[in-house]
Parts: sequence; C-alpha cells; structure tokens
Amino acid sequence: MIEQIEVLIRLQSISNELIKLKRNKEYRYNDITDFKKKVKEKEMVVEEGEKRFKSFQVKMDNKELDLKGIESEIDKFKVQLNQIKNNKEYSALKSEIGLKEADKSVIEDEVLKMMDGLEEERNKVNELRNDVKQDEIKLAQLTKAIEDDVKRIDDEIKTVIARRDGLVETLEKDPKHHFQRLIKSTDGVAVAEVVNNACQRCFFTVTPQTINQLLSEKELVFCLSCGRILYMNNKDVVFPK
Ligand SMILES: [Zn+2]
Repeated sequence: MIEQIEVLIRLQSISNELIKLKRNKEYRYNDITDFKKKVKEKEMVVEEGEKRFKSFQVKMDNKELDLKGIESEIDKFKVQLNQIKNNKEYSALKSEIGLKEADKSVIEDEVLKMMDGLEEERNKVNELRNDVKQDEIKLAQLTKAIEDDVKRIDDEIKTVIARRDGLVETLEKDPKHHFQRLIKSTDGVAVAEVVNNACQRCFFTVTPQTINQLLSEKELVFCLSCGRILYMNNKDVVFPK
C-alpha cells in the first residue's frame, strides 16, 4: 500500500499544478474583464461630456438669437429715428436705442465668454474621446496577449492531464477508483495530509483509530469528515484524546 500512497501523493501534486494552471487562466480572463469595465466607465464620461457640450451649444445658440433680436430692434428704431420730426420723441427714441445698445454689448460679452467655455468643453470631450480610443487599442493588444497566454496555459494543462492520466494507470484498481471518484467530486483535491492529527483539507481532527490505520500502512484511509484519502508524513504522532 505504501507505494500506492506515494503514487497518490504524486498524483495530488500533479492535480495541484492543474488547479494552479486553471486559476491562472481565470485570472488572465479577469484582466480583460477589468480593463473592459474601465473603458466602459470612460465611455460613459465621454457621453456625459458630449451631452454637456450639446446643451452648452443650445444655450449659446439661444444667446445668439437674443443678440440678433436686439440688433434688428435697434435697426428698426434707427429707421424710425429718421422719420421723427418732433424733438421730444426723437430724444426719447435715442435714449431707448442707447439702452438697447447697452443690452447688446452685455449679451455680446456673454456670447464671447460662452464661446471660450464651449471651446474648453469641446477640447475636454476630444481629449476624453482620444483617451478611450487609445484604451481600445490597448484592450485589443491585451486581449491578443491574453489569448496567447491562455493558449499556452491550455497546452500546459493538456500535458499535465496526460502526465496525470498516465500515472493514474499505474495505480491498482481500488486506489485508482477512489482517486478518480474524489478528483471529480471534490475541488480537485483527492488526497490530504494529516498534520498534528488534523486533515489538512477540512481540519477535522482524526480519530486514534484513523491514526492507527495510517501507521499500519495496510489500507487506504479516508477522512471521516471530507472523505478524502489521507496520508501522514510525520509518524511521530501524539494520539488524539
Ligand atoms: Zn478531511
């Protein structure tokens, strides 16, 4: 039985390699997911910036309409001014024109300021959009690199599985059956070491009878809690009470 246990321990270490490889593969895919999420967030910021830019544009268009309105009013007053014969009416209209001119100059200043603001907003949006474009290029490169990595990992997984299956074939019928059964039914860990009287997989304290069975090395011993095949490297045991 001792050789069988040794093979089982080696098999478990191969299975651990497999678990690690599969986990690496998952991590690599997570990198893509994380990056995509970041790009998505930036895209949303761009969208918001575009919305802001558009509403700013509408506000400015309205201001420009106001300006045109005042200008046409002033033009109309000026035509009227030429037709007035009465002094009093003339100066009243003149001062009315003066007020409109003042309004016009205020709106002109506002439009100029808004133009600057709009320019700034446009630059901001363009910068963000370029950033997203760069990220999309990076994402494509990252995806390619990760796909290559995953292919390499898959090849390695195939090699390790072949190595494991070859070794499984060297087992006797009973240990083979239990190993294959446990590998499938657990998280890929079929064999667990007992250290300080505890199964190192589920940390259940084994019974003195289990310790005796392990010491005698005559049969396969299973954890009474998690069901895995147990082994013990350190035989200087203090029996559990
Ligand atoms: Zn256990």
